[in-house]
Amino acid sequence: MIVEIDNNSGFCFGVRRAIETLEEGLRSGEELYCVGDIVHNEREIERLKARGLKVTESSRLGELHGKSVLFRAHGEPPGSYEIVRKNGLRLTDATCPVVLKLQQRIREAYARQKETGGQVVIFGKHGHAEVIGLVGQTGGDCILIEDKGQIDQIDYERDVEIFSQTTKDRKHYQEVVEAIRERSRGKVVAHDTICRQMTERAEHLPTFVKGHDVIVFVGGAKSSNSKMLFDICQTLNERSHFVTREEEVDSSWFAGEEVGSVGITGATSTPLWLMERVKKRIEKQIGD
Ligand code: SF4
Repeated sequence: MIVEIDNNSGFCFGVRRAIETLEEGLRSGEELYCVGDIVHNEREIERLKARGLKVTESSRLGELHGKSVLFRAHGEPPGSYEIVRKNGLRLTDATCPVVLKLQQRIREAYARQKETGGQVVIFGKHGHAEVIGLVGQTGGDCILIEDKGQIDQIDYERDVEIFSQTTKDRKHYQEVVEAIRERSRGKVVAHDTICRQMTERAEHLPTFVKGHDVIVFVGGAKSSNSKMLFDICQTLNERSHFVTREEEVDSSWFAGEEVGSVGITGATSTPLWLMERVKKRIEKQIGD
């Protein structure tokens, strides 16, 4: 039986860069606090904590004074930078450049819309770290929507400028934008702000999924990207299974003569070493 890891999976550029920056800091022996989980993958966090990583929440940043802190790839709202200044914290900013650019575009759009009486709309998940940073660019003065059912919050007599969280599903975003355009009597500008790395993953995934009889998706329980990509797997292959660690792999998934190949894939927050462990576990179960 073939057991293959998807060579398009593993960390995206932004997450890899943040983790490399963090590991560099930890190697130098400094006490380093990451603000929030560096990546939405519990196993990778356990590995980094064993190397000395400390984690604090954004809401508790104000309790630190004179320490070294790291902002992860998801980014932070302006209030966190203010605390860094006030509390004399040493900052390593590992915000993904794609997210930084999006924050800047939202700030600029907010200034434009404020002047002309328009509105800024963000399509994203309530409470998600990146979204908190994006909403912060408007001082909280924007409309956050998760799906089409929430677009009634918009005032359709006024202009609208729309942005998406970087890890949202493109088709879902387009549907929301179309629904807003249909209702609006003002000008609607929708920005294409879904990350290319995400889009390429989502586009490639169907080919990988269709090429295997069973799919094992390795992801984090808190990761929206994991959820979005796993949904694609499940739609295309009902023999798709979600695991967060190798111990969760079940040998019954590979039973039956019709199973000739198993594909292992993951989210942009899934480390390659974890997928390799899952692969070894599957190979052992098949061999037993
Ligand atoms: S998914 Fe894209 S925007 Fe998000 S961290 Fe990765 S590279 Fe950056």
